[in-house]
Amino acid sequence: MVLGITGGIGSGKSTICRVFQEMGFPVYYADDRAKLILNSKIVLQEIQDVFGSNVFTNAQINRKKLAQIVFNNPKKLKELNAIIHPRVRRDFQEWLTKQDHKICIKEAAIMIEIGDTSVDKICSVLVPKDIRIKRVIKRDLTSNEEVIARINNQIEDQERIEKSDFIIHNNQELIIPQVLKILHTLEATSPL
Ligand code: ATP
Repeated sequence: MVLGITGGIGSGKSTICRVFQEMGFPVYYADDRAKLILNSKIVLQEIQDVFGSNVFTNAQINRKKLAQIVFNNPKKLKELNAIIHPRVRRDFQEWLTKQDHKICIKEAAIMIEIGDTSVDKICSVLVPKDIRIKRVIKRDLTSNEEVIARINNQIEDQERIEKSDFIIHNNQELIIPQVLKILHTLEATSPL
């Protein structure tokens, strides 16, 4: 079975996934894979066809420029997703067939939003917005405004709570007991 780990920017998805990884669970990092796929030859050509050459710097995709374009343009975002998402989906399925663990983990920022059917259960990582802003500014050396703009573009915690099977609070609560509780529930409820 596949447990999906999702959450807003700076919620700590990758950090939580590293905990699962340390415990021996295979983890697929969809956003990292998407970045690799974005720079594959065939994808570069498709991006050039849709977005033109001004999203390239030194023959590499300038992700910042691309993000600026799609951020305020839903039609272009849809076109970009149509290039990337099916490939990431295939890449994930291929990866999954190679795993022999009963529980595999998929980490992705966008999961609830697209109704991701490749996961059996969803776990959202939640952290109050002000803490996430501080953590991302520290991690990425970015601006307050930039992080807030990205947060405002993502779904609210309330919707995450309603659409998730599990929640991990990654502020003041310990992570490992929460991870263990989820694993116990999965083992008790899934025909593993
Ligand atoms: P993004 O959506 O931007 O990829 P993410 O959800 O994967 O982010 P992480 O990169 O795991 O989030 O965490 C964001 C930052 O917060 C990182 O610098 C990480 O080290 C830090 N962080 C994560 N969890 C905690 C915690 N419990 N206490 C303090 N700092 C934390």
